[in-house]
Amino acid sequence: MNYDNENIFAKIIKGEIPSEKILETDFILAFNDISPKAKIHVLVIPKGKYIDIYDFNKNASREEILGFWEGVNETIQKLKLEELGFQIKIHKGESGGQEVFHFHIHILSND
Ligand code: AMP
Repeated sequence: MNYDNENIFAKIIKGEIPSEKILETDFILAFNDISPKAKIHVLVIPKGKYIDIYDFNKNASREEILGFWEGVNETIQKLKLEELGFQIKIHKGESGGQEVFHFHIHILSND
C-alpha cells in the first residue's frame, strides 16, 4: 500500500479540514477524536507521511521518532493525564481496526 496524500489526517495537517487542536510541534499534531470513546480521546499523528506504526518505525528518522514521542508526552502533560493514567491504542492494518492510513495513536482517559 502506498501513502494516500488525500487521507483525512493528511488533509488536517494541510489545514484543509478543521480539527480541535490540542498541541502542534514541528513533529506532531494532537487533536480531539471526532467520535470520542472516552471523556478524553485525543489522536497524536506525526507530520511525516507514514501509513502505520510499522512504516513509521521502519522509515522515520531518529529525529522524527524522538520528536513524535516527545510530542506524545507534551500532549499527556497538556491533558493533565500524567498522574491519572490513561490508555494508548494503536491500530495497524484493516484487520487490526485501522481506518485512517496515516500513523496515529489514540490517548484515552480511563472514564
Ligand atoms: P483508527 O481506527 O485507529 O484508524 O482510528 C481512526 C480514528 O479517527 C477514529 O477514532 C475516528 O473517530 C477518527 N477520525 C476520523 N475522522 C476524523 C476527523 N476528521 N477528526 C478527528 N478524528 C477523526
